[in-house]
Amino acid sequence: MDLVLLGAPGAGKGTQGALLAGKLGVPKIATGDMLRDAVRQGTELGLKAKQVMDAGQLVSDDIVLGLVRERLAGDAAGGAIFDGYPRNVAQAQSLEGLLGEAGRGIDAVVYIDVDDDSIVRRMSGRRTDPETGVVYHVEHNPAPADVAGRCVQREDDREETVRRRLEIYRESTAPLVEHYRQAGVPVHTVNGEGSIDAVQGEILGLLGR
Ligand code: AMP
Repeated sequence: MDLVLLGAPGAGKGTQGALLAGKLGVPKIATGDMLRDAVRQGTELGLKAKQVMDAGQLVSDDIVLGLVRERLAGDAAGGAIFDGYPRNVAQAQSLEGLLGEAGRGIDAVVYIDVDDDSIVRRMSGRRTDPETGVVYHVEHNPAPADVAGRCVQREDDREETVRRRLEIYRESTAPLVEHYRQAGVPVHTVNGEGSIDAVQGEILGLLGR
């Protein structure tokens, strides 16, 4: 199963993707997480990506393609849940090429729909545990007491950066919904405003699981 999660930054792709990965038994490929790892490790790629990410812009298509290619030949050889990738039509075409070489293709797209004001509210409360990468929310999903103290806010979750990321999303990423529809891939829309469990239940129902 190769599944693409679409939705604005903060729509819940990471949370829902992790749950789905467990249920479907395929790894989640989240290019944002992979880039943040590279930044933490201080690799050459990480140094290159950091400024672009902190500004809320997209890193180059070549960089993310390299990251995804490695995974598809490795742990994701049997399927994947794509979270935050592809981000534009060029990336979608590259992904189709890579999957096609392995006789694979996108089986379904899940579009998680959340309105902009909720996104801004959600993202300003988002906190990550730097040790495990687990994402919490100060109101909706607070970190356990022994973890809360070390949780940090992502640089790109500040309000003005979130608004810029939403603009880039609308311009570059939102057109992918139509791209996949035209390619004949089933696109399932879920209302992402519900609880984590409700949204997960809706997704599994739409996928017939
Ligand atoms: P995310 O965690 O998916 O919101 O990604 C955080 C940041 O990483 C984005 O704002 C971009 O700067 C960068 N990034 C993640 N995935 C991609 C991608 N597929 N293409 C370009 N930039 C990306």
